[in-house]
Amino acid sequence: MRGIYHSFANLVVRVGQRNIGLQRQAWRPFPITASLQPTRRHAHGQATEYLQMSDPDLTESQRTVREAISKICSKYPDEYWMELDNAGKFSLDLHADLARDGWLGICLPQKYGGSELGISEATVMMQTISESGGGMTAASSVHMNIFGLEPIVKFATEEQKERWLVPVIQGKERSCFGVTEPNTGLDTLKLQSTATRDGDHYILKGQKIWTSTAQTAEKILILVRTTPLDKVEKPTHGLSLFYTDLDRSAVQVTEILKMGRASVDSNSLFFDGWKVPAEDLIGEEGNGFKMIMQGMNAERVLVGAEALGLGFAALRRAAIYAKERVVFGRQIGKNQGIQHPLAESWMKLEAARLMLYQAARLYDEGYAAGEFANAGKYLAAEAAFEAAERAVMVHGGMGYAKEYHVERYCREAMLPRLAPVSREMIFNYIGERVLGLPRSY
Ligand SMILES: Cc1cc2nc3c(=O)[nH]c(=O)nc-3n(C[C@H](O)[C@H](O)[C@H](O)COP(=O)(O)OP(=O)(O)OC[C@H]3O[C@@H](n4cnc5c(N)ncnc54)[C@H](O)[C@@H]3O)c2cc1C
Repeated sequence: MRGIYHSFANLVVRVGQRNIGLQRQAWRPFPITASLQPTRRHAHGQATEYLQMSDPDLTESQRTVREAISKICSKYPDEYWMELDNAGKFSLDLHADLARDGWLGICLPQKYGGSELGISEATVMMQTISESGGGMTAASSVHMNIFGLEPIVKFATEEQKERWLVPVIQGKERSCFGVTEPNTGLDTLKLQSTATRDGDHYILKGQKIWTSTAQTAEKILILVRTTPLDKVEKPTHGLSLFYTDLDRSAVQVTEILKMGRASVDSNSLFFDGWKVPAEDLIGEEGNGFKMIMQGMNAERVLVGAEALGLGFAALRRAAIYAKERVVFGRQIGKNQGIQHPLAESWMKLEAARLMLYQAARLYDEGYAAGEFANAGKYLAAEAAFEAAERAVMVHGGMGYAKEYHVERYCREAMLPRLAPVSREMIFNYIGERVLGLPRSY
């Protein structure tokens, strides 16, 4: 085992010892309706001073992850994320803290410094980061580095893994992900960027859109076509995957102004004559689509978990405000018009959580189909958006003010509904793959 794994392992032991009494406490039966209340098992979330820690279905390792990550996130209060959002300024603070304690390698092999835990644990990690009040901003500042490199783990050579995974896990390099293109959108198989072999290099030409963190990431995982669509047997063939330096002397990176998550940049990339070493090709030329598909279900689960965290944070803020705010001589939370929608949001978030955790567990057990991952991501994103919208409404006029943070949550809650896959494409997937209906497009 390498150093980073030691640090995580030590952390597990330390957290376990310190909270041993509290862990027992968490397993005692308790009224489920109390689970949004602070329990005696302490929690460090900043969004609303405490995080839900009483989920009776967490495994011991998930519970440990939740506690350790919430402790790290407690350094970053809502005001921190609000200021970054207002300034549109990217921060590496959380990334550095997670790297220091070995969390960036949570799903990556021990051999390269990772902890080799599962998506079940990474799901809890990403939910907790978002739920701390950091939302999609905090989650997106590390997301790609948590699981995005799965194609490297599965298909790269030993030399490449050593070269690429070690610095990512140590937090010395960060990567971004270039798949979406302006002219083809969700129709990935038609993407138009190309790579042409030229001796020991490939020459890349084309454009990408929405590439997040490209302003500062050192590396990019990029999918391009190496054999024209009309020359391949199947449209899934002829796409190739590279992991390479994001060479800003060859790639024009332009930030897109957007609705939320302002501090994590998303960008248009334009390149014409970008020389990429052949040694940066992953696996076999022409097989990139298969490789990229490998990690898709896990990514959906993780994005769903990030949405879930945001939804719970919004709900807690709404519940706190509904208890504190007095109008017409009574707490507004006494009104069923306020209380019932919040209760319903809790149920919807919990239902989504169960689906997501199931999808994560199945993924870790080797289940390859995507119905639960897709459905879990959809349900979590919708429940989170609804909870965030309700949180704004419960705050009345103050919901529109930045100081209560729910307007930021609400803007960010749009994102997991759109990306990495839209609601409509999830419906298409379930319609075709689960219900056996004809393809509609
Ligand atoms: C903030 C942000 C960050 C992102 N980060 C990245 C990143 O780092 N890397 C990256 O590669 N991409 C990234 N994306 C891109 C994201 O994955 C895409 O926006 C998303 O996949 C949708 O693609 P599109 O925007 O081209 O939509 P389009 O393909 O143009 O679709 C537009 C609309 O039409 C609907 N539609 C299209 N076809 C069908 C159909 N057959 N049936 C029903 N409805 C259909 C879609 O559901 C959608 O509602 C990011 C996007 C955002 C907003």
